[in-house]
Amino acid sequence: PTAPRIDYKAELNEQQHAAVTAPPGQTLVIAGAGSGKTRTLTYRVAWLLDNGVLPEQILLLTFTNKAAREMLERVNLLVEADTSRLWGGTFHSIGNKFLRWNSERLGYRKGFSIMDREDQKDLLETVVANSGIDTTGFRFPKAEVLGDIFSMADNTCLPVEEIILTKYPYFDKIVEPITKIRKLYQDKKVETNCMDFDDLLTQSVRLLREHPDLLERYQRQFEFVLVDEYQDTNKLQCEFIEMLTGKDGNLMVVGDDAQSIYSWRGADVTNILNFHEHWPQARVFKIEVNYRSVPEVLNLANASIGNNRAQIRKNLQSCREEKGMLPALVPLDNGSAQASFVAQRILELQDEGVELNEMAVLYRAHFHSMELQMELTSRGIPFQVTSGLRFFEQAHVKDVASFMKFAINRRDEVSFMRMVKLIPGVGGASATKLWMNWLQTEAANAEVMTGKFSDLLIPMSVPKKARESWDQFAFTLDELIVEGKPVTPPEMIRSIYDGVYEDYMRAKFKNAEQRQQDLEQLSNYSSRFTDPLEFLSQLSLLSGVDTENKPDPQQDKDAVTLTTAHQAKGLEWHTVFAIWLADGMFPHARAVEESDLGVEEERRLFYVTVTRAKDELYLCYPLINHQARDGDLLMKPSRFISELSMDLMEKWNVRGGW
Ligand code: ATP
Ligand code: MG
Repeated sequence: PTAPRIDYKAELNEQQHAAVTAPPGQTLVIAGAGSGKTRTLTYRVAWLLDNGVLPEQILLLTFTNKAAREMLERVNLLVEADTSRLWGGTFHSIGNKFLRWNSERLGYRKGFSIMDREDQKDLLETVVANSGIDTTGFRFPKAEVLGDIFSMADNTCLPVEEIILTKYPYFDKIVEPITKIRKLYQDKKVETNCMDFDDLLTQSVRLLREHPDLLERYQRQFEFVLVDEYQDTNKLQCEFIEMLTGKDGNLMVVGDDAQSIYSWRGADVTNILNFHEHWPQARVFKIEVNYRSVPEVLNLANASIGNNRAQIRKNLQSCREEKGMLPALVPLDNGSAQASFVAQRILELQDEGVELNEMAVLYRAHFHSMELQMELTSRGIPFQVTSGLRFFEQAHVKDVASFMKFAINRRDEVSFMRMVKLIPGVGGASATKLWMNWLQTEAANAEVMTGKFSDLLIPMSVPKKARESWDQFAFTLDELIVEGKPVTPPEMIRSIYDGVYEDYMRAKFKNAEQRQQDLEQLSNYSSRFTDPLEFLSQLSLLSGVDTENKPDPQQDKDAVTLTTAHQAKGLEWHTVFAIWLADGMFPHARAVEESDLGVEEERRLFYVTVTRAKDELYLCYPLINHQARDGDLLMKPSRFISELSMDLMEKWNVRGGW
């Protein structure tokens, strides 16, 4: 390789530099917010490439796929290397990659579908209904709850029974039927060639465990494994990492125990805290400088997290100059006053030269942003919301995708049902009958599609009202597969839309125009894929557990970001507004009831929130909540504010003035 272009010493502090250039082996960087952990990981990748490591030999696991993309873009600026050959992304997307190559080894077929939570719920409902288990006599969990229980079991690597006894004790009398449902559900997924999100990981781990040749192969390939946000990994992910790394492999993980905020989803902070137990030889680096935030913001953050008993004490110092402005504490009359304050302040900051994409509004729960969204819309301030119903989870997008999924995976029962129920005149009962008929056709079982959908579907008996649309539906499916192969994604979308979906959509939805535009956007996005399977996987991964929700990454678009605190992890902005900082909202009422541990996790979330701000931080809370279920509710400021010394912030008196 040519001489390095980067002066590593100049761009990194001593600890960062030591980690970046660490010799092979295991390395842990544990440090507070904004101390350059992600930067360290990025430079480590660059340094490895600089030293002759091939991109293929690196596996980079990140919290979102976007984060991986951005890190690799950065790497590209630093060194000359083809980072597209490097495996980078979330655990789910990497798992998906493994399984696309190897699913047949697990009894699945090629081209399995990925189910999102809604699909999962549909399939579970079917399983429960056909299980022969009497679910009427006692309170049986709904499909969503079953999904949660199974997911928790997967992610914590614990038996379902234990999850029920510890987390869902009111179901302790029905452990057995629930366990039976789980088994039936697992079988059903194989039968319909579908995986849910957790399967992308559980099945990957199983693949490596049951096939030593694959384990050996991937261990050899991934000479270097790197993981960001390690504090929020769960047992399953930890196991995945350990398997791929091997006993004496090269592993670098970075994280901050004070930012562990996903225990409700099975994340386990002991992965980072006990790193040493598993890797006794590991080198540990600590960074005590914060590069992100001005001292005023950092002082408040440090004071807040200092109230947590379960936290490793860190002495984080800002290396930035004082700004001369304390974080603002802003009490407001109500939610709409809060929205108008935030909007007003955004405009003022914009006048001062702060770009809109350097500002963000953070909140505990998605619905906290509703009033603000309306206010920003009415004032014409562009914004992007990175939470709530994601683009790909919208009904019309999923409708169209179900055609594509079924055309490729002809055992995909969930997609089949979704599709045929769109046909006017086809209800639940006839849909089930049609599915039974379909299963008896050869095409449903053949590896490659020969012949036409229409030849098989049209002879089936359908309700009289549906006859004509049924035929049209069958012809549309024909267009999606040509000579046994699917056409390109944009061609598929076009055929589905022109063939049948435009009519369905106009019958089903009020705001068909908006939805039509969405589908055009979907089609544009799809044009970068030639393989529909790859496109569909991408859709599923985006709509799943990730934060990203935009089909085309218009990241540079000048817009304010609205996001939940959970999804703001790892990001930074010049100005951060935290809204609805009232007790019961943030901390969440449920967490308060739970236990001290619940409050401590909320406090970590608050720490994550305030440490996103580089220069300015606004802590807003309305005095009255007009939207409370039982009428107007007088609010108390969040305990995360009232427990702090008032010297750390400055109270802004804007009530009545805005
Ligand atoms: P978080 O805990 O929030 O994920 P982090 O520890 O990953 O934060 P980074 O996002 O890597 O921190 O860094 C925070 C900011 O500080 C970034 O803008 C980064 O570029 C900058 N930074 C980090 N280290 C240095 C350094 N040595 N010199 C200059 N800037 C730095
Ligand atoms: Mg980071």
